Amino acid sequence: MSIQILPPQLANQIAAGEVVERPASVVKELVENCLDAGATRVDIEIDKGGAKLIRVRDNGSGIDKESLSLALARHATSKVTTLDDLEAIMSFGFRGEALASISSVSRLTITSRTEFQTEAWQAYAEGSQMAVKVIPAAHPIGTTIEAVDLFFNTPARRRFLKSDKTEFTHIDEWLKRIAIVRRDIHFTLQHNGKMVRNYRPANTQAQYLQRLAQISNKNFAEQAIQINCEHDGLKLTGYLQSPYQPSITLNTHYFYVNGRLVRDRLVNHAVRQAFSELSDQEQPNYVLMLDLDPHQVDVNVHPAKHEVRFHQSRYVHDFILQALQSALSQLPQGDGLSSVF
Ligand code: ADP
Ligand code: MG
Repeated sequence: MSIQILPPQLANQIAAGEVVERPASVVKELVENCLDAGATRVDIEIDKGGAKLIRVRDNGSGIDKESLSLALARHATSKVTTLDDLEAIMSFGFRGEALASISSVSRLTITSRTEFQTEAWQAYAEGSQMAVKVIPAAHPIGTTIEAVDLFFNTPARRRFLKSDKTEFTHIDEWLKRIAIVRRDIHFTLQHNGKMVRNYRPANTQAQYLQRLAQISNKNFAEQAIQINCEHDGLKLTGYLQSPYQPSITLNTHYFYVNGRLVRDRLVNHAVRQAFSELSDQEQPNYVLMLDLDPHQVDVNVHPAKHEVRFHQSRYVHDFILQALQSALSQLPQGDGLSSVF
């Protein structure tokens, strides 16, 4: 067989296999783009678990007319230009793949306006060459991206979608995790025309605890130990369940590295070790944010960016463990935690 270059749509559909697993992954990519664009408000509308419609609207910087077709092209990004950029990346995006992938497996339109334009423009890609059409539209400053009929042209993937309810739960769960770390953003989430979540910006500590209670659990938010520890360029902040409170089964195990939600065994291990002498709780709940020099961590490990690699993972683990141990050691044993706040 002769070797041929894949047509753009097929190449994008293959790449979509890694990035677009289900409606929640589309929501993740679209919302992360809003945050990268400096939005302060993000409105998400979902129909039928996302299989019918995913619409994400933001008030961020917008995309200018000339860039609209590029936004849909593969390996096109405004976020990285050099390897140095990649090694110190702080934005969520850098692969320039999400929109190309999503538009290859759904009917995707982008409507956007920047502050420098008096009118908005709308783009969509069609056909196997993914030629982009751009037409005038109406939109305030910011961007709306709409993905309709997800996987309509990849029936094998469409069959893997679970019930609308299950798919929506995945979206809701992901939004909880991002809403906890991006307290500055106003998020709303609608399902089938009904407002399901409304996370208002949390500018004060009291508002933040309210958001935490809304997302996780009231008891957890009221009784959690506040962590705030900094050493040698590493900073750990967040909340940890008290070992002296009755255990709450919440599954709140949220860990963020430089604002990015990651799955990492390191932090689970450190939490369990910190708890091991104080309590027999096996899965204490936590929301922990680690901030460090972006050069010290590699985020380009997995297309969906669920994982990171620390250059000095032992050191990071020990720092987290010590930060937790020191917070725990200041607790009055078996007592309420009001004195910690
Ligand atoms: P990446 O985020 O890795 O750059 P994407 O495919 O997700 O790749 O997006 C491509 C480009 O489209 C981005 O680099 C950005 O310039 C632009 N873009 C996408 N979504 C938005 C948005 N909501 N607001 C402003 N620009 C956006
Ligand atoms: Mg992106």
